[in-house]
Amino acid sequence: MTTTRFAPSPTGYIHVGNLRTALMNYLIAKKAGGTFILRIDDTDPERSKQEYVDAIHQDLEWLGLTWDRMEFQSKRLDRYHAAADQLRDLGRFYECFETPTELDLKRKKQLNMGKPPVYDRSALALSDEAKAEMRAERGDGHWRFKLDQERINWVDGVLGDISIDAASVSDPVLIRGDGQFLYTLASVVDDVEMGVTHVVRGSDHVTNTATQIQMIQALGGTVPKFAHHSLLTGPQGESLSKRLGTLSLRDLREAGVEPLALLSHMARLGANQPIELRDSLDEIAEGFDVDQFGTAPTKFDAQDLYPLTARYLGAQPLAAVADEVSSAGVADADAFWAVIRENITTRKDIAAWADLFANGADPVIDDEDQAFVAEAMALLPEGPFDGDSWGNWTKAVKEATGRKGRGLFMPLRKALTGMSHGPDMSAVLPMLQVIKARG
Ligand code: GLU
Repeated sequence: MTTTRFAPSPTGYIHVGNLRTALMNYLIAKKAGGTFILRIDDTDPERSKQEYVDAIHQDLEWLGLTWDRMEFQSKRLDRYHAAADQLRDLGRFYECFETPTELDLKRKKQLNMGKPPVYDRSALALSDEAKAEMRAERGDGHWRFKLDQERINWVDGVLGDISIDAASVSDPVLIRGDGQFLYTLASVVDDVEMGVTHVVRGSDHVTNTATQIQMIQALGGTVPKFAHHSLLTGPQGESLSKRLGTLSLRDLREAGVEPLALLSHMARLGANQPIELRDSLDEIAEGFDVDQFGTAPTKFDAQDLYPLTARYLGAQPLAAVADEVSSAGVADADAFWAVIRENITTRKDIAAWADLFANGADPVIDDEDQAFVAEAMALLPEGPFDGDSWGNWTKAVKEATGRKGRGLFMPLRKALTGMSHGPDMSAVLPMLQVIKARG
């Protein structure tokens, strides 16, 4: 059974980069009729916050990325202790006592000598007495997994054949001196015990994956299929790492981005397939394939989400925006929505159109059109207006002034709505309760 997971750490709000990971894992499970696990990686009690767990739930629910199962790493510490014991028994786990400063110094020395900054395993040589002394002096040590120094190979779902020389990688620390488990081991234990079959994550995890494959094998688990998607950059190819904070899902939601616009975009961005607006996650899942994604960094521009949002809203029935329309307080909701729906970018624009219709717009009249607009306004009947009013009026204005085409219509549109674009004016005029351009 296909099983995937999204494993955020609840140390901040999730952003578009996280969404890429979540969505790919979700779609793999969805497409296969499998299980999608939401795993909260909260082994760091200081940085993990309930507030962020709640926010992750809200963000995923907003997008409709529902999970079949939820797990918290903080509730599984006994499992990690058991795995650590197993690795100790296998002789694959050793305690080290170097301070961060000492490690830093070692790395610098190695780099100065032109060597890769790989941990030199000197703790392996410590006798039991030496370790006891160290422990008395410095407190408990941290624990490293002893890699088998051979090549680690896998066929990556995005990157293809990968081969990493374990000798070029430091033995990873799995337990810190204060006893805290790092997600590196916790993740392996969870993936093995929860039967995870596919892991998609960012390419910043490639080296972790190499070491985790050895851990999975040491623990007798089955290695899942790994795929590492490229990292997102800004529109100019610039690093997004600093800006991801402003690209949180809640910011995008606040800004009015529609879930299906965001999902349709993220499910294809960086893939060999065109980005097309889809109506549901089922439809998005249909054409989804992780091996369609390229390895190059993927440019993300939040601005691209707005045309898709507009297209999504333009195709919606009134029921989809009923709340916004009713709080905007319009008289004929059906007629109102029919007129504006293709002329909004986000739901926020609904209230602005209702306000424009109810209270009129400040006219925009170019200098050269002042006399023309005054003449036209004098010809505008009192109202109420219907679907023929605009046609009849502009015909009369045309006869009186000799203007036609754009020179006739545009100044009148700007005078009535304050904008140079918008819905068909024959539909707008009957909606306008106030025409400020009448003076
Ligand atoms: N919590 C980890 C992260 O967000 C999970 C990585 C993983 O195991 O895929 O980076």
